[in-house]
Amino acid sequence: MSTKMEAVPDARGRFGAYGGRYVPETLMAPLEELERAYNEARADASFQKELDDMLRNFAGRPTPLQFASRLTQHLGGPRIYLKREDLLHTGAHKINNCLGQGLLAARMGKRRVVAETGAGQHGVATATVAARLGLECTVYMGTEDMERQRLNVFRMRLLGAEVIGVDAGSKTLKDAINEAMRDWVTNVHTTHYLLGSVLGAHPYPAMVRDFQSVIGKEARAQILQAEKRLPDWLFACVGGGSNAIGLFNDFLDDDDVKMVGVEAGGRGAGIGEHAARLAAAKGFSGAKPGVLQGTYTYVLQTLDGQVSTTHSVSAGLDYPAVGPEHAWLADRGRAEYTAVGDEDAIEAVKTLARIEGIIPALESAHALAELMHRAPKMKSDQLVILNVSGRGDKDMEILARYV
Ligand SMILES: *Cc1c(COP(=O)(O)O)cnc(C)c1O
Repeated sequence: MSTKMEAVPDARGRFGAYGGRYVPETLMAPLEELERAYNEARADASFQKELDDMLRNFAGRPTPLQFASRLTQHLGGPRIYLKREDLLHTGAHKINNCLGQGLLAARMGKRRVVAETGAGQHGVATATVAARLGLECTVYMGTEDMERQRLNVFRMRLLGAEVIGVDAGSKTLKDAINEAMRDWVTNVHTTHYLLGSVLGAHPYPAMVRDFQSVIGKEARAQILQAEKRLPDWLFACVGGGSNAIGLFNDFLDDDDVKMVGVEAGGRGAGIGEHAARLAAAKGFSGAKPGVLQGTYTYVLQTLDGQVSTTHSVSAGLDYPAVGPEHAWLADRGRAEYTAVGDEDAIEAVKTLARIEGIIPALESAHALAELMHRAPKMKSDQLVILNVSGRGDKDMEILARYV
């Protein structure tokens, strides 16, 4: 039986039942303009060439696929390879997407980008790309987050971005999103909204996936070179889901390649204690299909349908919704989703630091922790690729508090 995946999303931006475009009337025209421009750019060899050049010479691609010989020996299970996205400029995979959208904005004649940021990582990557391309950049950030992430606010300003504090509501990411949206609607003729993950209305989930799929394209060629065969397992953490889908995308038609997406299990399975949207089978409560930020997907919500609060030690995984393509892959059983708690993630950071000399981001450490649970039960002839989505430098204050 062939289980070849049909091309997704469809013309309406649907991944099965998920995705789509749930936005106010004022956003329909800008989204259609963006979709047209993206489809043209994608088919244009000169755009791809310019993007490849920036990825190589500015961001530092290709990233290595490193055989983790000591971790492999330590865990006594499969042969483990690390995809080293942590080595990229600005320290994580986010720059892949920011470069793609930045070049697209310039191509569309937009001189300005707006973004929202929670912990500041996406804001820093956006400000970096805007500086390189000579675009104006405005980043919205909740004032609570600005207080917690002062160094990233400073980085963005140093890079020439305007950082606007949002004092409304909970003063965090979702309030910043509302303000960034308002800015985009008001200034749509001059401005591109640079979204940071595979979330939001069509075409964002497909476009961001395409810009991140360079991770899996490289990893595929690299593992074939090193081992002369495809991997048995892929592991990646899932916040919005962009680094995970970036790794998975080029392997979706290879039925024998199993995929595990790891969400934030936080400090417990109750509502508000975690950010596990697709790991309900593991006992995490609160996730149901619903609409958030323009897309239909799994959303953590209270019994009366209010978006629930979330918790994770890693800011990048701490979000109530997940990319619609992951919801679809989960329903079809093509990828498996699970969750790992704060303490296991911190232990995993320590393990990789001591055994391989790599301090991973707390987000990436969630995927590693899941692999560490499973590895002893896996056979030694199995091949695993683990995506190290980013480096841990940004997490030192948090780690210092826990370790
Ligand atoms: C932002 C971030 C994530 C989560 O985002 P995805 O869209 O799920 O990839 C994961 N890892 C790192 C290092 C990040 O900075």
